[in-house]
Amino acid sequence: MPTLNTAIDQILTHNEGFTRTFTGAALSAPPIRKLLVIACMDARINIQTALGLNYGDAHILRNAGGTVTDDVLRSAIVSTNVLGTREIMVINHTGCGMMGCTDHGLREQLTSKYGKPEHAPADFHAFTELNSHVREQVERLRAHPWIPADTVIRGFTYDVQTGRLHEVPCS
Ligand code: ZN
Repeated sequence: MPTLNTAIDQILTHNEGFTRTFTGAALSAPPIRKLLVIACMDARINIQTALGLNYGDAHILRNAGGTVTDDVLRSAIVSTNVLGTREIMVINHTGCGMMGCTDHGLREQLTSKYGKPEHAPADFHAFTELNSHVREQVERLRAHPWIPADTVIRGFTYDVQTGRLHEVPCS
């Protein structure tokens, strides 16, 4: 028996047990609550638990910063047009790592450590002010002609000290 010494090894063991009581086989792909959540990848935010979401309830897209990048936009277009979601919730949070750095600084740091690669992210989407960042993501979604105009799109911050969501007013 190999020694279990990585997070992935532990997960594979856990998954064996998970399959024994698995109940998700009857679900279909369109989210039951017709909801798409876009959030930061921060490990302190357990999206399903914090929002009370169950199996099959929602699409959840996460990245560094909870930013509406071109790829998030791509998935949001598929989610709303192909898989029937009608509401989008954007969630950024206090203490976000992308708020404490700059694109330029990160690029300099990586270049001095590894050199200049052939391909690198065009933008790391670092930001300075939490509420403005949420508003910009909401605006980006609302402005896109391929996101249905009647989609409800709302922005929130999540407080990592209290677990509370605060709505960010977006005009
Ligand atoms: Zn974050």
